[in-house]
Amino acid sequence: MIVNRSGAERAAQARAAEAQLADDGIEGVVFGWVDNAGLTRVKSVPVGQLAHTAEFGVGAVPCFDYALVDDSFTSAASSTGPVGDLRLVPDLDRLTPLAAQPGWAWAPADRYTQAGSPHPGCQRGFARRAAEAVERRGLAVRAGIEIEWVVADAAGDPATTGPGFGMTRFIERSDYLRDVLRALTAQGLTVSQLHPEYAVGQFEVSVAAEEPVGAADTAMLVRHTVRAVSARHGLRVSYAPVFTEGALGNGGHLHLSLWRAGRNLGHGGSGPHGLHPEAEYFLAGALAELPALLALGAPGVASYLRLVPAHFAGAYRCWGHENREAALRLVTGSAAGQANAEFKCFDAAANPYLAVGGVLAAGLAGIDAGLPLPPETRGDPAALATAERLPMSLSEAADAFEKSALLRQALGRELYEAVLAVRRAEADLFAGCADAEVIGATRWQY
Ligand code: GLU
Ligand code: MG
Repeated sequence: MIVNRSGAERAAQARAAEAQLADDGIEGVVFGWVDNAGLTRVKSVPVGQLAHTAEFGVGAVPCFDYALVDDSFTSAASSTGPVGDLRLVPDLDRLTPLAAQPGWAWAPADRYTQAGSPHPGCQRGFARRAAEAVERRGLAVRAGIEIEWVVADAAGDPATTGPGFGMTRFIERSDYLRDVLRALTAQGLTVSQLHPEYAVGQFEVSVAAEEPVGAADTAMLVRHTVRAVSARHGLRVSYAPVFTEGALGNGGHLHLSLWRAGRNLGHGGSGPHGLHPEAEYFLAGALAELPALLALGAPGVASYLRLVPAHFAGAYRCWGHENREAALRLVTGSAAGQANAEFKCFDAAANPYLAVGGVLAAGLAGIDAGLPLPPETRGDPAALATAERLPMSLSEAADAFEKSALLRQALGRELYEAVLAVRRAEADLFAGCADAEVIGATRWQY
């Protein structure tokens, strides 16, 4: 259930949290947002300022809506350059003491105008609007984002040598992984799995599904926590789409299930693999919009060095049951509640609020249109003459995004224009660069 609180209610919430924060030894609260390039930007306040901050927010420069992965800026019709200010307001529903950053608590934040209305460029606000549209139809979505990362030593080299999924690699970093697990759990997150992934130095953690905005918040909290634990072990973390040229990259797979009246619509229905009609239409809507959605879920030039065949990244625009080369993998699991769809083509550079909100908007449009799913792809799509590749560059994804009336409408003019401007500017930024240069320039940015 989405709650919209007034400033006074938020201040009361902050005051109610004060005693607990003091007990937890919290001295400051760090809160921020994820920009259109996929970078987290933050401010912090001492706990004594929290009530005032919750009510009125702190200043935030609007030009960060146009920031690129290299910290330079672009612009669009709605940008005001150095002029103007926004209010960055922590959402204390998710106030969390940070286990690996003693003395600090974290919260996601919403951005408002100085007059107190939601900032039209606020990515979390967009995800919230999309989630509200789902609720209005009497539907519910449960979502979760898998986090993959490469852990490196101080010199920036992968900090493991053991093989993919290898116990050797697990033992090499046993204390580190225990501390990751401990910190996530201490922060109230339900870890489902933690394992060595395939690429050198790569690990992955997945957490329990929840409502969609919460899932995006959680994805950010997990990432910050993994990074903070890593720092305490003298390690660095990369969430870049590609760490090592040619190797598998860091996915940010979005899992999602659709529910009505407490029933998972991905199970027990008359459609393929038990899909109920609404779930089928939802997935068909997302699949139809997938090239444009890539501008949200695969936001960088490097994203398209990851999104290639035979990389388990879902480079083909198709769906398939347990098919790890299909962009949309249908997972039936072993229990009714587990059935879900996995958007494999999204990577860890994505702003999760944009990715989640975009998928919800496209899925709802699919339901409205009663759009049937195309036939399932069985086996590796690479072997099929009819297989359709998803966009192969950021420019191609931006072209699809630019043509998407659906996403233009869902995001709203200001956010849509800002995202498009950032995508175009990043494509220009790296135009003519060798793959190794792109990878080198983005490896530590996300
Ligand atoms: N690391 C792969 C990616 O880039 C995904 C591997 C997997 O989880 O199947 O998305
Ligand atoms: Mg994985």
